[in-house]
Amino acid sequence: MRIVLSAISWVSIYLALVLVPLAVLTIGEMPPGSGFWWDFSMALGFAGMAMMGVQFFLTARFRRACAPFGIDILYYFHRYLAVLACSFVFLHFLIIRIDNVDALGAINPLEAPWYMTAGRASLLLLVLLVVTSLWRKRLRIPYDEWRMLHIGLAVAAFLLALGHIEGVGYYIQAPAKRWLWTGYTLFWLLLIGHVRLVKPWSMRKRPYRVAEVRQERGNSWTLSLAPDGHEGMRFEPGQFAWLTLRESPWHIREHPFSFSSSAARQDRLEFTIKELGDFTRGIRDTRTGEIAYLDGPYGVFSVDRYPDAPGFVFIAGGVGAAPIVGMLRTLADRHERRPLWFVYGNNRWENVTFREELEALKQRLDLRLVHVLTEPPAGWQGESGFITAELLKKVLPGDAGEYEYFLCGPKPMSDAVQRELRDLRVPLGRIHLELFDMV
Ligand SMILES: Cc1cc2nc3c(=O)[nH]c(=O)nc-3n(C[C@H](O)[C@H](O)[C@H](O)COP(=O)(O)OP(=O)(O)OC[C@H]3O[C@@H](n4cnc5c(N)ncnc54)[C@H](O)[C@@H]3O)c2cc1C
Repeated sequence: MRIVLSAISWVSIYLALVLVPLAVLTIGEMPPGSGFWWDFSMALGFAGMAMMGVQFFLTARFRRACAPFGIDILYYFHRYLAVLACSFVFLHFLIIRIDNVDALGAINPLEAPWYMTAGRASLLLLVLLVVTSLWRKRLRIPYDEWRMLHIGLAVAAFLLALGHIEGVGYYIQAPAKRWLWTGYTLFWLLLIGHVRLVKPWSMRKRPYRVAEVRQERGNSWTLSLAPDGHEGMRFEPGQFAWLTLRESPWHIREHPFSFSSSAARQDRLEFTIKELGDFTRGIRDTRTGEIAYLDGPYGVFSVDRYPDAPGFVFIAGGVGAAPIVGMLRTLADRHERRPLWFVYGNNRWENVTFREELEALKQRLDLRLVHVLTEPPAGWQGESGFITAELLKKVLPGDAGEYEYFLCGPKPMSDAVQRELRDLRVPLGRIHLELFDMV
């Protein structure tokens, strides 16, 4: 209930941040209107601008705002609202282009007033921003390069749009409105400053040192970090943090990883990382004593959110086991007695990350562990193939619908298992997901 109320209040704050500037601009003295389409186009422009401002808030990773939804949901929200904001700004331009083309003036930047060129440039950058984000993978833009481009384009588009509004000056001529609009603008600029300068600065005061790098099965490495001069980080099992390794916290290269260590130990934080691309392939070369910074904890994928559940069912594929092993280790440290199931899909037996550790955890928990292999070795007695409804029906108890389900794995597996769980009539609200891909 608290989470629902919190979610409702954040959605209300969002609507207020977008609608209040519009309402303020319509109060009191108004410029002579040029008909419905003109006013409608202006409203779209201001709404698009306010939405652009809120976009910075959505990705600022304020823990209180992330808590009710989960940061991945906020990122999806950010993505779709960006398309909406861009469409509003584009419509703002299009309506004037059709209804009152003279108001747009010359296109040539050498002849046009600077603020009209700023408006056009802002729209162009916004379109570029949306296209490079929606089709990043298809355009083969590496994630880190895309992220730098994304931040650069977003800040530039926003500042150009502000310049356009200030330069045109319609609707904000009255001193009170100008003050309000300037205050609003300052708020967004301070927010950008907070995210890019203040937050990394506070991370710099809480560094970590690499204490150990352990090889795991399945091309994975466990990176163990010890806090350097502070007490470490308190987190809920299953949550994740953004890791910056060897670089300054102001550096944009940071990667999200789930805690695979027990939440009972905040003085030794571990992440189990599968070799996948440039950054993750470099983990094996990390040396003890090297510096790291963490931004976290984040995420709602945690057993701690369901204290009244009669039991838990975990389903993972490959390195998706990392947050689940973090939860199991924590539950073992807390002497948990509730029944637990872990259905763990992998390709080969020798690639099963945490294989030995899971056997050891069975001694400390009421845990039923089901390995499912797509390429089982000769003589394999266990389950093989994919995780299907039939398999789940066979290995889970009759009252499986009562439990909370935690699912983490590659997207195709996650989608397929969700369908299977729905076939088994597991209520949607009991299925919790962690996707290792945000965009
Ligand atoms: C909430 C969450 C928890 C995760 N937990 C784990 C974990 O415990 N263990 C593990 O091995 N992996 C985990 N990942 C995935 C991990 O973050 C990516 O595999 C890693 O960032 C890839 O970086 P790369 O440069 O090696 O690979 P690349 O080849 O550059 O990236 C491969 C793909 O990973 C994604 N990615 C890359 N960089 C980032 C980034 N900075 N932020 C978000 N996504 C990115 C992109 O979709 C990209 O296309 C998690 C991801 C998320 C979102």
